[in-house]
Amino acid sequence: SFVNPAAKSTCRVLIVGATGFMGQFVAEASLLTGRPTYLLVRPGSVSPSKAKSIKNLQDKGAIILHGLINDKEVMEKILKEHEIDVVISAVGGAKILDQLTLIEAMKTSGTIKRFLPSEFGHDVDRADPVEPGRAMYIDKRRVRRSIEASGIPYTYICCNSIASWPYYDNTHPSEVVPPLDQFQIYGDGTVKAYFVAGTDIGKFTMKTVDDIRTLNKCVHFRPTCNLYNINELASLWEKKIGKTLPRVTVTENDLLAAAAENRIPQSIVASFTHDIFIKGCQINFQIDGPQDVEVSILYPDETFITLDECFNDFLVKVDRKSISTDEITTTSPMAESMAITATCA
Ligand code: NDP
Repeated sequence: SFVNPAAKSTCRVLIVGATGFMGQFVAEASLLTGRPTYLLVRPGSVSPSKAKSIKNLQDKGAIILHGLINDKEVMEKILKEHEIDVVISAVGGAKILDQLTLIEAMKTSGTIKRFLPSEFGHDVDRADPVEPGRAMYIDKRRVRRSIEASGIPYTYICCNSIASWPYYDNTHPSEVVPPLDQFQIYGDGTVKAYFVAGTDIGKFTMKTVDDIRTLNKCVHFRPTCNLYNINELASLWEKKIGKTLPRVTVTENDLLAAAAENRIPQSIVASFTHDIFIKGCQINFQIDGPQDVEVSILYPDETFITLDECFNDFLVKVDRKSISTDEITTTSPMAESMAITATCA
C-alpha cells in the first residue's frame, strides 16, 4: 500500500467517469490516499456490473453524487456545496467536449485548485494520428485551450499505453489476455512504447493533484523498466507461457486501412496503434519543454509495477494445463476481466 497517513491530504476530490475503465483506477487510488473522494455518477439506471463497482467504491468510502458534467447548473451546485478542490475527469472519447460545460461551471465557482481533464494517453499537442483518432485529439486540444483560457489550474496526464497486449481493435486491451494462437506484429516490431499498469496510472495521477511541480504542466509517464517494442513484448509472453507462437506481420498499410474503415471505436484504436508502433509517437520527442515533467523523475522513490509482473497476472488467467497440451484456453474473458484489471492493469 502506498498510503502515508502522515501525508494524508484533506483536499476534496471529485472524480467524473469513475464507472469507466480509466476512472476506476483513479477512484481506487484517490480512496487509498484517504482524500475525501466524491464520484459523479450519471443519473438513471446503471448496468449490474457498474452498480457493483459503484458499491465497491462506496464501501471504500466514496461519496456518490448524481449529475452530468454538461449540466452547468448542477455542476456549479455540486462544486459549491461540497467545497470541491480538485476535479478529475475520465469521460470517454465520445464525450470529451462535454467537459467544456464543466469548465464553465468551475470558472463560475472560482474555488477549484486543480483540474485534470480526460487525457490519460499521449500528449495531444504533439502526437498527430490519422483519422478517426485525430478527431478525438482535436477535441482534447480544444478542451486544453479552454482550460488555459479559463485560468483554472490544471495538470495533463500523459500516461502512454496501458500495460497489456496492444490489440489494434480493442479500446480496453488490458481486459483481454495476450494472444495464445499467434502474434500480430505491427510493422517490423521495433518501435518502442511505454506500458503502465492501470493501478500505477491511478497512483501517480493522485500524486500530481496537489503537487506544486505539476501545476499547469504536462505529466509524462516514461518508466524505463516498461519500455518495450512489440517483438520484445511477444518474447516476454512466450517466456511466460513456455512456448513460441507464430508471428504475423500487420503492415503500416493494414493499420491505415483499418483506420480508414471508420468503425468507431475500433478504427480510432487502429489509428493510435499506427501512431504508436509505426510512427513512434510516444518516443519521437524530448520532454524538456517548460511545460513538461516526468513521473519517475518527480517521484524517484516510487516503483512502477513491471510489465513482467502484469504478464504474470495474465498467465494466472490462462489454463496452464492447456498450454502444455497445445490447446490453450482462457477462462471467460468477461467474468475475469475485473480480476485482471484489479491486480495487473
Ligand atoms: P469509458 O467510456 O470507459 O468511461 C467513461 C466514463 O465517463 C463513464 O463512467 C461514463 O458514465 C462517464 N461519463 C460520460 N459522459 C458523462 C457526462 N456527461 N457526465 C458524467 N459522466 C459521464 O472511458 P475510458 O476509460 O475508455 O476513457 C477515459 C479516458 O482514458 C479517455 O480520455 C481515453 O482516451 C483514455 N484512455 C486511455 C487508454 C490508454 O491506454 N492510455 C485506454 C483507454 C482509455 P456511464 O458509466 O454512465 O456511461
